[in-house]
Amino acid sequence: MKRVLLLLPTTTYRTADFLDAVSGLDVEVVVGSERTPALSGLMEGRALRVDFRRPDAAALAIAGYARERPLDAIVPVDDEATLVAARAAAALGLPHNPVEAVAASKDKERSRECLVAAGLRAPRFTTFRADTDPQQAARAIASGSCGVAFPCVVKPVDLSGSRGVIRADDERSLVSAFARVAALVTSPDVCPPGDRPQRILIEDFIAGGEVALEGLLRAGRLEVLAIFDKPDPLDGPYFEETIYVTPSRLPAETQDEIAREAQAATRALGLTEGPIHAELRLNDAGAWVLEVAARSIGGLCSRTLRFGAGISLEELIVRHAAGIQIPPLERERRAAGVMMLPIAHRGTLREIRGQDDAKRVPGIEGLVITMVPGSELVPLPEGDRYLGFMFARAETPEDVERALREAHAKLETVLERPWATPLAPLREPS
Ligand code: ADP
Repeated sequence: MKRVLLLLPTTTYRTADFLDAVSGLDVEVVVGSERTPALSGLMEGRALRVDFRRPDAAALAIAGYARERPLDAIVPVDDEATLVAARAAAALGLPHNPVEAVAASKDKERSRECLVAAGLRAPRFTTFRADTDPQQAARAIASGSCGVAFPCVVKPVDLSGSRGVIRADDERSLVSAFARVAALVTSPDVCPPGDRPQRILIEDFIAGGEVALEGLLRAGRLEVLAIFDKPDPLDGPYFEETIYVTPSRLPAETQDEIAREAQAATRALGLTEGPIHAELRLNDAGAWVLEVAARSIGGLCSRTLRFGAGISLEELIVRHAAGIQIPPLERERRAAGVMMLPIAHRGTLREIRGQDDAKRVPGIEGLVITMVPGSELVPLPEGDRYLGFMFARAETPEDVERALREAHAKLETVLERPWATPLAPLREPS
């Protein structure tokens, strides 16, 4: 029997989905997480403490464990775990993405450098230390000395889920956006004491529609599992993901181009094995790869995907990592979609009304509220959570999108004590 280490950060939404996926396979599961007490009773000797913020130490701990109980595969779940998995796999000689490639995919500056070096379309970009005077950064952009022009996008080099990503259209809004991103990347939550804060990247805003591509790399070859349209415009100033619908309604040749660019980007980064999640923008110039992450889609969004005779994305990932035969990767015929329920206002959650009405909308297949009453809600760009996830299946992508919108209109978020003012207003009073 194969022994598989699942790296499950405590912040992941996907513990149940991965444990469910492995339960049907002939594998012994070991779980690695920052906190293990909840599992250690149930999983005697099969729970390992892993500090994802210290990839070197974490990889050593995993290698130490594997000396006693050899591992056949390491499966990272979500962004936080990918680097630890690559390092530990390298130390143990397990097939995996090269450490350098995973590190490059997690660093938005290095990613851009790799894409440019490979001749791929990429926005012009520059970076600043987080302690740079925001006025100075804004003047540098306004003067054109770094090649980046307004409108531009300000973002931390290594956060995910659109956290800290802000559009700025002029010098004034850039000063405000830069200060806000700097405050986020120097906060103890993001930058533990003793660590150097992440750099801040500023790049051209690329106008256009956006898609996400879910794929699996096998020996460097990208197999497209799904292309999701994002029907809500993502024009900023913040970039909250809401609706994802698959299959894409784009023409076949555009989808082919998306797949080609994503494959080229994985080569540029050096990624070779396992799931990838890519975000691309489309406009008259063609497809622009904004990001390729060495992981599968986040949140609970993978529940929209079923392959072959009903296999989940999580099962597919574990099968690939453990070298267990993978059945045909054909996605089911029906259209499917998810809505990540956005957090609109800061405050303490009292309740979400209208859930039963939302579930009754034809096509709605599930609604999972992941925030419990009493939770502090923090919207983007500082927040890193959603209220929950709503799923739909129907004959066509149009029907899926319609169902999600109709059901969402029935939900009402009630806050205990709404904050009187936002934490740091981005828009200056005009
Ligand atoms: P994260 O890894 O946090 O998701 P991304 O760099 O992928 O950060 O940015 C998140 C979202 O912000 C993108 O999906 C896109 O909608 C928007 N965005 C980021 N950079 C740009 C850009 N240069 N031009 C246009 N939109 C952008």
